[in-house]
Amino acid sequence: MTDSGIKIAQKWLADADAILVTASNGFSILEGLNLFANDEKLRTVLGDLVDKYHFPNLLSAMGHHYTDKLDQWRAYARVSEYYVYNYHPGELMADLKSILANKPSFIWTSNVDHHFKIAGFDNLLEIEGSWTSGVCSAYPKEHSVVSLPETLHRIYEKDQAGTLTKADLPTCEECGAPLAMNVPGPSFKMDQEQVKGFEHFIEKYQDKRILVLELGIGPHNQLIKAPSMQLVASNSHARYITINKGELLIPDIIGDRSIGFSSSIKDAFDALLTGKGHLQVQGPAKAAPKLTPAQQAEQEKMLKQFYPSYMVDRGIRPGELTMYMTIDKSHPSHLHMIQDGQSLMYSLGDAAIVHCFTQDGQYHAVRLGLDKTKKEVHGFYVNAGTFIAIETADDSGAGFSQVSAGISGNASGEILVPRVDQLTKLFPNQKGLIRRLSVEQ
Ligand SMILES: [Zn+2]
Repeated sequence: MTDSGIKIAQKWLADADAILVTASNGFSILEGLNLFANDEKLRTVLGDLVDKYHFPNLLSAMGHHYTDKLDQWRAYARVSEYYVYNYHPGELMADLKSILANKPSFIWTSNVDHHFKIAGFDNLLEIEGSWTSGVCSAYPKEHSVVSLPETLHRIYEKDQAGTLTKADLPTCEECGAPLAMNVPGPSFKMDQEQVKGFEHFIEKYQDKRILVLELGIGPHNQLIKAPSMQLVASNSHARYITINKGELLIPDIIGDRSIGFSSSIKDAFDALLTGKGHLQVQGPAKAAPKLTPAQQAEQEKMLKQFYPSYMVDRGIRPGELTMYMTIDKSHPSHLHMIQDGQSLMYSLGDAAIVHCFTQDGQYHAVRLGLDKTKKEVHGFYVNAGTFIAIETADDSGAGFSQVSAGISGNASGEILVPRVDQLTKLFPNQKGLIRRLSVEQ
């Protein structure tokens, strides 16, 4: 099973039109940069500043609010000298290049160490900036971003020689204000060239056979992981390979197009390059059986009775879909059961009347709309097991009502309809309504 998962992943890479690599600190750690570690290396890099400020790790040194600006730039320069100026791309970067095999690719990372750029990956979005650019602390929006590597290297040399003075600290060329490191904070400015490149790449390949290769991103990362899974969910040709030891998270909705390696990035790279390896591979999940065109047409016809003129949009969270349905006087949404529980929201047009027959024998009608004087609500939640039907209130001249419904991406697709004779027995006062809104007339 392991080997077949690896083989399938290799085939996906070979078949892809383009590869979007996503990476966060799990990748940096493997390359020897751990922002959170309190170890001997912290002293090697930062020297006397560790004891002076009691820094538990690199992150605290980079984020500290220094009153002594010389110390601030000493810290920046020492970190930059070690991790940027003296950085030499290692095996991991070479392996990544081999895996991408000259296909169109793009790197989307929250790593601030600039290693991908130094390793020659020019198609790059550093979403949290990098330790190589500075921004004006007085007019961050108006004044331009400054490239820092050479300045930081000069500061480092003067720091080591004991000759660093305030005159050596970098200032804005336009106004003379001190520079700040261009990382997330009040003056952060994302590199617009990088942003443009990213948008261009996504536009070009989002509907093609795009493969997302995710490297060391935690399962709850909302910055990169959630939107990239979203990208895969919205395109049936897209595929997803994730590498994260012990922390795979693959939503069902993309399960049949996803493979996870619960291993180190190095071991997974070896497996992807050689086709062999002893590591834990998850997926791809079995796809749901495909419907024949005739079955599809039949299902479509049936769906129209319950969700007239509907369209499905992928929601913000992977695994969730939003369905928009437009109903008019001659096309109500017929009585059917809500199986998973769902929220219904007013979206456009006339108000909509939602008839609800609950499991405990209650009937109520909810008006979805914007007019509070008519007791209309913008949205409400329908419990699982409730039979609902939706009609337009036909009250504002629009001639239709549009309602949106959040539905589970793992819903079975079956539609349960009530037996009219049973339901009218339970709800004799709504007999006319039930007859009118049932498919079984
Ligand atoms: Zn300035």
